[in-house]
Amino acid sequence: MAGTSIYPKYPPDLNEERASFLLSNLKDWSIAHGLAVRPAPSFVESEKDPAGVLATTAPVTLFPSLFPRTCFEEGLEIAQAYNELYAAIIRDEEWLGNIITELLGIDEFVERLWKIHMAVKKEGYAQDLSLGLFRSDYMVHIDPSTANATPEIKQVEFNTIASSFGGLASQVSALHTYLVSIDAYPEEARSIIDLDNLPKSTSVPQLSAGLAVAHRTYSSSQGNRTKCVLFLVQDPERNIFDQRHLEYSLQSQGIRVFRLPLDRVLTDTYLDTDRSLIYTPPHSPSSTFEVTTVYFRSGYSPDDYRNEEDWNARLHLERSRAIKCPTILTQLAGCKKIQQVLATPNSPHLSRFLPDDAVASRVLKTFAPIYPLDESQAGLEARKLATDPETASRYVLKPQREGGGNNVYRKAIPDFLKSQPESHWPAYILMEMIEPPALHNAILRNGEVQKGGVIGELGVYGVCIWRHGDGKLEKGEILENFEAGYLLRTKGDQSEEGGVAAGFGAMDSCCLI
Ligand code: ADP
Ligand code: MG
Ligand code: MG
Repeated sequence: MAGTSIYPKYPPDLNEERASFLLSNLKDWSIAHGLAVRPAPSFVESEKDPAGVLATTAPVTLFPSLFPRTCFEEGLEIAQAYNELYAAIIRDEEWLGNIITELLGIDEFVERLWKIHMAVKKEGYAQDLSLGLFRSDYMVHIDPSTANATPEIKQVEFNTIASSFGGLASQVSALHTYLVSIDAYPEEARSIIDLDNLPKSTSVPQLSAGLAVAHRTYSSSQGNRTKCVLFLVQDPERNIFDQRHLEYSLQSQGIRVFRLPLDRVLTDTYLDTDRSLIYTPPHSPSSTFEVTTVYFRSGYSPDDYRNEEDWNARLHLERSRAIKCPTILTQLAGCKKIQQVLATPNSPHLSRFLPDDAVASRVLKTFAPIYPLDESQAGLEARKLATDPETASRYVLKPQREGGGNNVYRKAIPDFLKSQPESHWPAYILMEMIEPPALHNAILRNGEVQKGGVIGELGVYGVCIWRHGDGKLEKGEILENFEAGYLLRTKGDQSEEGGVAAGFGAMDSCCLI
């Protein structure tokens, strides 16, 4: 459902010989370099892999997708501004709390998270430092009302928890570069698919640098116990190699990493009297580690909390002295509701958090129109748009959820809203669909090549470490703030969702044009 094309004819055709050369090289390179996922649950259930040893190439594009150079550069250049913005929102607890409060009573998940924050706040947080491994996602947009309009990026969402695919993103950009170096692409395409146009993604070294800085900052001030980083994970995890790339990068810097599912937290860790988080690996019960940093790759979805014990585990981690990536406040700042409030036309919010006007206006330019569905004037107008099938077809309805598969699209919105009590409508936001220019590519998924129209979504990673202060914006401070590489995910243009893990999208890299 993409708009008209602004790109040259792409990708080039492959004759049979070249297609087979390209594919065999792509398949081997990706397994050799861990651009891979574990088999789908249906495969596991069929018991064809009882020992759990198999892996397959992650869904990946055969060609790097065309992407406007100016858009790409803008996305990377404003990564630090976005880090600054969110680190400020999270430090301004009253502002954040006022918005979250609107969701209490209508969004049970948000409410449970907020209650944990309030409980820990009452006791007093044991750790003032926070680590954010963020990812801001964009699509290319061309304003149809402007003649000779230039492409711009519009933000899809800002992720503050479990921002995934940083591990694989470095690999896929290296894969496409490798395919160029072995002349896998046809001659007529080589002026476009040229190394000068293929930016490397530095997400593995940069995201692991963020974790390493948090680890070292903690270690330098906290006693002489042996230290480690804990990855809080889902179990089983198909996308495990994505996480392993970050883990191996830390391990190669001498930092111990352990993986722990939420339901093992209360059995394998305890809090010392100063609330240091102490971990005992079950395979080595005589050794103990003090956890410097908890990196959440789980805990973002209600499904991750199977019982009260799991919620107690989350509280236990939040109470601990370990640096959290993210804290509950950081996770809540990623609510789509926050994005909607920031995008309110002519609001003072952005300048509150980004005092430099030039910086604020660059960030503002990336906002797409987003509306509340509450009883404010803007909310009532949005309710009209969302309940009329004609107008609703230009929008997406989003709850406060992460991980893909939660949105309601276009014509399905009116009936969905009718199925919900009106008192719960404010738990959603209504966002205009971004309609990127038409583009083609080929995707290798489960061993099959699918060709056709595609839509790309650029994710730009950011690393930020800050002191919370006492929850007053001016009291905290930012210690680290850097851009941390990029990800391109590409999906068929007939699919509204784009999640690679959810089975809709593919890993990709940019061919700048
Ligand atoms: P999640 O946090 O679950 O990933 P997103 O806001 O990223 O939620 O939405 C999931 C997917 O839906 C995106 O990856 C994108 O493909 C599509 N999508 C979301 N918002 C828009 C939009 N405004 N325009 C076009 N596509 C969108
Ligand atoms: Mg998200
Ligand atoms: Mg998303």
